[in-house]
Amino acid sequence: MTALTDLNAALVVMTGAYSFAPTSSFAAADGVTFLCPRCVALFGASASHSVAAWSSTGAAPAGLAPPGTRWRMYGTGVADLTLVADPPRDDVFLRSACTWQGQVVNGSAL
Ligand SMILES: [Zn+2]
Repeated sequence: MTALTDLNAALVVMTGAYSFAPTSSFAAADGVTFLCPRCVALFGASASHSVAAWSSTGAAPAGLAPPGTRWRMYGTGVADLTLVADPPRDDVFLRSACTWQGQVVNGSAL
């Protein structure tokens, strides 16, 4: 597992239909972005892409990548963030095009 704080994680808020920017407010966050744990381990942070996860109660439109699962966000920030699929399921994973799949639990990408 890798701490989200080591993956340059940022809470983000929608600033347009398909644009977003970092926010320091957990309450206002529409999602979270972080560097892909797999690609950071394989290629380093400078060669890694980002993974995004969108809140099920936020402003991210359904068409914003990645499509599909939206997440309930629990915690106070990225250091203790837990994402739970909405509706809750244990067998749903965050996925990225590089084949990484995982979960975010208590501030770490598993
Ligand atoms: Zn990757």
